[in-house]
Amino acid sequence: MVSKTTRKSNLNFTYKKHESLNEQICFYCGHFGDVADHVPPLAWIQFYPDYPRMLIRACHQCNAHLGCKTLPTLISRVDYLIKRYRKKYWKILISPDWDDEEINELKGSLKTYVSISRIQHEVAHERIEFLMERKKQLLQDVNTSYD
Ligand SMILES: [Zn+2]
Repeated sequence: MVSKTTRKSNLNFTYKKHESLNEQICFYCGHFGDVADHVPPLAWIQFYPDYPRMLIRACHQCNAHLGCKTLPTLISRVDYLIKRYRKKYWKILISPDWDDEEINELKGSLKTYVSISRIQHEVAHERIEFLMERKKQLLQDVNTSYD
């Protein structure tokens, strides 16, 4: 009898390495990435026999959010992450945008809090912007493949 682990690692070979694996940045959000995301997820592969199987470079956070969700395509995964990060970062994203001068007028723990908030705001904004660009690019690729 073939163990579940052996079956999974045999299936792993049917996934094609995507070009994003040659880089160290997450295909989805642009942060440092050092894990491979299975598209469609290994756990659901039997339900998507005709879908292209790809290994995509991802960061730990995107990979953890995607987990074993039944999202079989790149565009469905990107869409999910956009919604997920918007929900996760909503408080940070609506926080006011302080400039250096304003922050320098602050003192003590408030100054520290606002400085950290500004960095979190930038990181969250960059991550979502990157995902939006990725979505745009994927949609263009789909459109050009039908030209
Ligand atoms: Zn990521």
